[in-house]
Amino acid sequence: MRGVTVLGASGSIGVNTLDVLARHRDRYHVVGLSGNTDVARLVEQCHVHHPQYAVMADAVAAEQLRARLRSVDSAIDVLSGAEGLADIAAHADVHVVMAAIVGAAGLQPTLAAVRAGKRILLANKEALVMSGRIFMEEVQRHNAELLPVDSEHNAIFQCLPIGRERDLEGAGVRRILLTASGGPFRTAALESLRTVTPAQACAHPNWEMGRKISVDSATMMNKGLEVIEARWLFDAAPEHIQVVVHPQSVIHSLVEYVDGSILAQLGSPDMRTPIACALAWPERIEAGVARLDLLQVARLDFETPDITRFPCLRLAYEALARGGTATAVLNAANEVAVQAFLAGRIGYTVIAEVVEGALSEISACEAESLAVILEADEQARAVAAELVAARETRTSL
Ligand code: NAD
Ligand code: MG
Repeated sequence: MRGVTVLGASGSIGVNTLDVLARHRDRYHVVGLSGNTDVARLVEQCHVHHPQYAVMADAVAAEQLRARLRSVDSAIDVLSGAEGLADIAAHADVHVVMAAIVGAAGLQPTLAAVRAGKRILLANKEALVMSGRIFMEEVQRHNAELLPVDSEHNAIFQCLPIGRERDLEGAGVRRILLTASGGPFRTAALESLRTVTPAQACAHPNWEMGRKISVDSATMMNKGLEVIEARWLFDAAPEHIQVVVHPQSVIHSLVEYVDGSILAQLGSPDMRTPIACALAWPERIEAGVARLDLLQVARLDFETPDITRFPCLRLAYEALARGGTATAVLNAANEVAVQAFLAGRIGYTVIAEVVEGALSEISACEAESLAVILEADEQARAVAAELVAARETRTSL
């Protein structure tokens, strides 16, 4: 029996992870679950999965959860805050940690799992975008096992020879082809993008996801973040990572080798496949996913991404080229802008403008320590908040 902690249990990836775990109660038991403010969801999950610990990042929510669980299941220890998250990530009974908190908030709890040498199923791509070099050094230092859950990276991982995931040249890899659906606005008239609503941006054609990553998919910032994620996960040079738009989301990514072979991983667009793959690797377990019917798919299309339509993709490549803290700035400014868009404060096309503004206002420096990275994150949030406020005023005039 392997003990599992699910960080971000109440989110989209968290719910999918618990669904897979519930199919294999003979192999896994849940040690820790975490949420932020979503008490009702955690109560429900505690009922079903009986973890040893439940953590709410928010202290008030933790108090509420404690009160609600007292009458039902008093054996569950309720913790809170950054400390609680780190505790369930590093706990001695835990073998596997699903890192599925969204955004920069996921960095420290995921690092706690890394430093405890766990098997980490990495959904939280923002951690690598912010601190790729340091994060990967910590993985090596603590002998942690890092398995990608992001569907593209999981696909690439499956297409690489076992044990050579960070030795692309030695493995004879020419390039990585990262597929992208193009999101809901791939073919929308450019003028119409200005008035896009949060509901439209979150209506992804193929995937059901949390709201932040749904907006990132619409702007293609998500693909930009994934290029950076791939750079660190596979120690790949940016020029060896190519983004290919593939609207059907059936091929989850590909690896091209020097002999001309291209290997691809295909499947239904359902995150339970990469979750189950990373959970049981190198074994395979049932994931509850609908089988892919190639005859029904019938055709596969490929296009070059349109940088005019998706300026966020360009900004991500630029931040990666600049290096150092620039990718942390990109990520933080994007989080602030997406939140403002979802709150109805700024228009959809302003997201890229805020990120571009923050990148040009803040000069990048060497990402030499976590403290330096967190400082850049904070600075970028302040600058982005100012840019949002300025744009908001202009819109309402
Ligand atoms: P979500 O919004 O559905 O869930 C986010 C989770 O994080 C929730 O459990 C929430 O309570 C928790 N959380 C939010 N803010 C927090 C904070 N400040 N402190 C502690 N916990 C906090 O998001 P999601 O779609 O499940 O995505 C989670 C992560 O996985 C993201 O990094 C995303 O990029 C990545 N990812 C998601 C998908 C997908 O299909 N949903 C695919 C690939 C990668
Ligand atoms: Mg992805």
